[in-house]
Amino acid sequence: HAPHSNKVNHASVSVYCRIRPLSSRDDDRKVVSTPDTKTVSLAHGGEHHTFAFDRIFDSKATQQDVFEGVRVSRCVCDVLGGYNATIFAYGQTASGKTHTMEGGNIFHPLKSGVIPRAATALFRACSHAPAYIEFAIKVSFVEIYMERIRDLLDTFGRKRGNLRIRENPNSGVYVAGCTETFVTNENELLICMTDGRKSRATAATGMNEGSSRSHSVFCITVQQRNTETEAKRVGKLVFVDLAGSEMARKSQAVGLQLEEAKNINRSLSALGQVINALTDEKKVHIPYRDSKLTRMLQDSLGGNAKTGLIVTISASAENASETLSTLKFGQRAK
Ligand code: ADP
Ligand code: MG
Repeated sequence: HAPHSNKVNHASVSVYCRIRPLSSRDDDRKVVSTPDTKTVSLAHGGEHHTFAFDRIFDSKATQQDVFEGVRVSRCVCDVLGGYNATIFAYGQTASGKTHTMEGGNIFHPLKSGVIPRAATALFRACSHAPAYIEFAIKVSFVEIYMERIRDLLDTFGRKRGNLRIRENPNSGVYVAGCTETFVTNENELLICMTDGRKSRATAATGMNEGSSRSHSVFCITVQQRNTETEAKRVGKLVFVDLAGSEMARKSQAVGLQLEEAKNINRSLSALGQVINALTDEKKVHIPYRDSKLTRMLQDSLGGNAKTGLIVTISASAENASETLSTLKFGQRAK
């Protein structure tokens, strides 16, 4: 029996929505509006659907606006305090998940997304810590494709592409054999990210790039040791760039693409269920074991861990039905 299964720690989940600017390829008709900074409205099927979130970022929001609005610095503080925090990006392909999490250029001060900015905040905080605190910071980067966990930092490809999830009383739930790279500054962390991105699944079938069909999980673990008292502390900051939400609905697909669709559908539903159970006081069981993603993140979802969900949408009429589905996913998570 899993030690966690009887212990339910309900937690609040913050849900944000970011609207991507219309691109030249988009149908020009805008069907999304933002009556205020917490409300988003979608005109679809002759109806107006209105949703309330913790914060809406409209198409003019900058990367820094999103970093501040999602309160990522607070997550960094929590992690330094020994807690875990997880931020998800959920939305259809090309709605801006990777733009939000990584950014157009992770090294550029204006273009970098949430992860590089969190790294800046983290290393800045470490540099201001008292001299008797010793830090060890390591990163891991995996992708979950077809319910298999693949190590994106295993550049020599020596490890299997199907890592197992294990649990022990000391370290909790972990991915066995996963590469963990120690980093001593922001630049080293960003180089790990760049290396990992290059390894993402690129089996180009049809029009979809590989990253749409897998979840990527970038994890920063911060270990601290007080050299005077020998007290230790560890916290994890996790960023998840989810598979394209529309992939879960490719029920017309055949063969491999149908299998991909089923797996994505299962894992996104499992994530929705877990987040929903965490925010519902009446729920006594959190179904972490229903997918690799939720199982692997078990220690970072619920309990004292903070969870942020950023749903990314397009304002264009041609994406309206997928946008509605994305907004509903975000709403259910609250
Ligand atoms: P996803 O990861 O959800 O598939 P991307 O983040 O790759 O989508 O975004 C698709 C395209 O749209 C990229 O070229 C990206 O730079 C652009 N884009 C997305 N969101 C924004 C935004 N808020 N502002 C400017 N460009 C954006
Ligand atoms: Mg992407």
